[in-house]
Parts: sequence; structure tokens; C-alpha cells
Amino acid sequence: MSTGRHFCIWFDDGDGVEVVCGCGARAVLVVDEETGEQVLVTLAEEPLALAATA
Ligand SMILES: [Zn+2]
Repeated sequence: MSTGRHFCIWFDDGDGVEVVCGCGARAVLVVDEETGEQVLVTLAEEPLALAATA
């Protein structure tokens, strides 16, 4: 019991589209048009601050 690995457990937000995890992560269910499979796509919460400098 040493890992801090976290598996997101998605549950319906009430919206029907977005799902959320207890850790605050969010995702949306997207249907792949080719395969018809539902794919869970996680949404990045963090802004892309690392790409600010050049
Ligand atoms: Zn999570």
C-alpha cells in the first residue's frame, strides 16, 4: 500500500455530458464516429502557462 496512484471514478455531473471525479478532474464522453465507441476524454484544468516564454 505505497502507491499514491489515483484512479478517477467518473460520475454524472447532472448535465448528462460532463462527468467528474472526486479529485476534481472532469471529462466528457465523446463518441468516435468511426467505431461508434464511447471515449472518455479528460479535460485539462490547468492553463498552458508553461508555453508562455519564447
Ligand atoms: Zn480522480
